[in-house]
Amino acid sequence: MDKNEIILSGFRFKKQLGQNFIFDKNLLKAVASDAGVTEEDTVVEIGTGAATLTAVLCEKAQNVITFELDEDLRPLIEKTLEPFPSARVVFADVLKCSDDKLREWIPEPFKVVANLPYYVTTPMIMRFTESSLQITSLTLMMQKEVALRLVAEEDTPEYGAITVALRAVADVRLTRTIDRRLFYPSPNVDSALVRIDFNRNKYKFKDFSIFKKTVKAAFSMRRKTLVNNLVSAFSLPKDELETLVTDLGFSPTVRGEALSCDDFVRLSDALCDRR
Ligand code: SAM
Repeated sequence: MDKNEIILSGFRFKKQLGQNFIFDKNLLKAVASDAGVTEEDTVVEIGTGAATLTAVLCEKAQNVITFELDEDLRPLIEKTLEPFPSARVVFADVLKCSDDKLREWIPEPFKVVANLPYYVTTPMIMRFTESSLQITSLTLMMQKEVALRLVAEEDTPEYGAITVALRAVADVRLTRTIDRRLFYPSPNVDSALVRIDFNRNKYKFKDFSIFKKTVKAAFSMRRKTLVNNLVSAFSLPKDELETLVTDLGFSPTVRGEALSCDDFVRLSDALCDRR
């Protein structure tokens, strides 16, 4: 399927569904390669589009399941996937499917590969990060600015709660940036491909829900000190929190963005001990 075929078919791209498709064969191959897809893998693709990426994934992996929301794409998808009868196409909104529902379609473990609509990037990452499904990795095309947030270093404006939350359970890499002209229609922003390899045993948390609460609180008001943000979230006396933060080796006026993921784990474990 190339760009001209889709135009000639009369298909009308839906901007509200983030329909910016990739037809460039080199880029499609690079996405599959950066995702580390091999013959033995089960691959889940989200957002089939015209199935150009699906076809490349089918060339690499034995088991491909692809999800698409827009039923108008059915004839184009069927045409592109004619040479790959084993590919499974599911017309459903992944964000609205429970883990149990997804298990009916997907054998575990699996890798996720997706050129996502930009507006679903964060919900999709959270959906799969918090899932009980056995997901090995997520390789996601996203707006470059969002990608830079996921791989940001401490003490930078891009570093935030999502950076830390993800780093606590996964290794995250930006594998390439992509010029907007390689999509059709071209979006208004450049993109980047990010690979997230889950490693859920990276840390031994005393209480993961306290870790999440600590990170969320630390970045809730970026101009406030860490201690002041924690006072509101944990209802603990300020002097007690100042002692706790200094005991960990930080100034009592430190801001959340100065702490690494390791530091947040130590901080949240210390908060658990105070409860
Ligand atoms: N994979 C194709 C490609 O790379 O050319 C299409 C990518 S396009 C950026 C995103 C696709 O995701 C669109 O076809 C859109 O209809 C579909 N989509 C949007 N939201 C979705 C959702 N919640 N679940 C499944 N598909 C969705």
